Amino acid sequence: MTQSFNQVPLARHLQTGLQQAGFTTMTPIQAQALPAIIARQDVIAQAKTGSGKTLAFSLGLLNKLVAEEQVIQSLVLAPTRELAQQVATEIRKLARSMQNIKVLTVCGGEPIGPQISSLEHGAHVVVGTPGRIEEHLYKGTLDLTQVQTWVLDEADQMLAMGFVEALENIAIYLPPERQTLMFSATYQQDIEALTQQFMREPVMVKGEEET
Ligand code: ADP
Ligand code: MG
Repeated sequence: MTQSFNQVPLARHLQTGLQQAGFTTMTPIQAQALPAIIARQDVIAQAKTGSGKTLAFSLGLLNKLVAEEQVIQSLVLAPTRELAQQVATEIRKLARSMQNIKVLTVCGGEPIGPQISSLEHGAHVVVGTPGRIEEHLYKGTLDLTQVQTWVLDEADQMLAMGFVEALENIAIYLPPERQTLMFSATYQQDIEALTQQFMREPVMVKGEEET
């Protein structure tokens, strides 16, 4: 059964954004995850690469965003700079139908100075890699106290790259009442441990396995 995006209660500007970006039919993982994401539940979604996980969490975080308040309302973590940039591009594309949403990438392997000044100017969404986000937190150049949505994208890859401690350290800076969304191509014991550590009564949705 195909399901269209207008069957889920997304803000009207996002429905417009989806149309403009050419998205009409939800992928299976989007159809399964979006109702819980929009209902602000914690969600762990496991589905193979290419199943449309980015759009699922991007819609969720944008649906909650208050455009008038330029404070960091969402933090998205990804394993690499390339992935973080791809995610930021997708969020920006969807946000075109909203007024002035600022999405910053804050990744390692880039000079930190310009990141500090960009952060000083404010943003609604920060997409970054764990090590560099942790560094900004220790320097006091990143304020996560207003975060409402925390996304861990490609969580299995972040664990494989040894970011577990960085994730634990970042979590300390986030408000406990935030929504946490975790996406992974695989679901193993280490991921389950993370969900228990970071999430509250998570809804688990499972798409097609990685083959
Ligand atoms: P994943 O993170 O699950 O590996 P992505 O989020 O990167 O997958 O999505 C893979 C591709 O599918 C992207 O090019 C994305 O634009 C596209 N896509 C996502 N959702 C839809 C949809 N509902 N309809 C058509 N294409 C989609
Ligand atoms: Mg992905």
